[in-house]
Amino acid sequence: MIEIYKKLPRTNCGKCGVPTCMAFALKVKNAQLRLWDCPYIVREDVEPVSQKPPVTMDDNYERVSNELEVEAGQVNFKEAALAIGGHFEVGKSGEIIKVMMMNKPYEMRREGLFENDVSCHDSWSKIIMYDYIRRMGCKPLTGDWVTLGYFPNTASHVKAFQRSAEEKVATIFNKNLRGLKARCKELGGVESQGKMKADYICRIDLLPRIPLYVCFWEADEEFPASCKLFLDSSAETYIDIEYLAYLVERFVEKFVK
Ligand code: SF4
Repeated sequence: MIEIYKKLPRTNCGKCGVPTCMAFALKVKNAQLRLWDCPYIVREDVEPVSQKPPVTMDDNYERVSNELEVEAGQVNFKEAALAIGGHFEVGKSGEIIKVMMMNKPYEMRREGLFENDVSCHDSWSKIIMYDYIRRMGCKPLTGDWVTLGYFPNTASHVKAFQRSAEEKVATIFNKNLRGLKARCKELGGVESQGKMKADYICRIDLLPRIPLYVCFWEADEEFPASCKLFLDSSAETYIDIEYLAYLVERFVEKFVK
């Protein structure tokens, strides 16, 4: 953005329809305007700069994933495996931490995350796993089941979460408790008991130390079926809450597929 700003007259004249040159530069950076939308810029002079592709969200995820990879790759693998509920091994390629994420096996090696012996290319899987490993959470489960909204700074996720996760599960498995139980089992879930009463409660480990409790109430004459997803309050020790929210969303997508 600064590079673009430096090319402008910086008089904040507003002829481009944007009040300041800085705001204009930001719009150009985000590909909402072109540099030559400023009447003082000669297109031929700037074409090479404006042809640079804009930074996309995928680029940002890739950048975050690369930063976390460096940190996760530097931890003591043996200690980390113990802390996060993974399995430590020394294989042909060196030290490895084997970890399950949503019932799928992954290997953390010094050179990054692998899936079925192939380098993982999904930025979000990498971000979640690297953050989980580098934090080495190491806190026992508290036994306090909480909803996502319990954790700080999750207000923006809560409504979307109810709609896209809990209501979705309730609608899809309405009058189909058998189907719900079968799906939970397929994803490695174990029928569980909790402090609350529900027609069915299942524990599914999103990551070894991050269990998700699926609580389901069947429909009756008065109320439709409903579902609540709970996490143990220790989850924030293990993973950034933004990433946790995303992990749960991904789980629900997979669950209802
Ligand atoms: S027209 Fe050009 S100089 Fe004027 S505010 Fe917009 S960018 Fe700045």
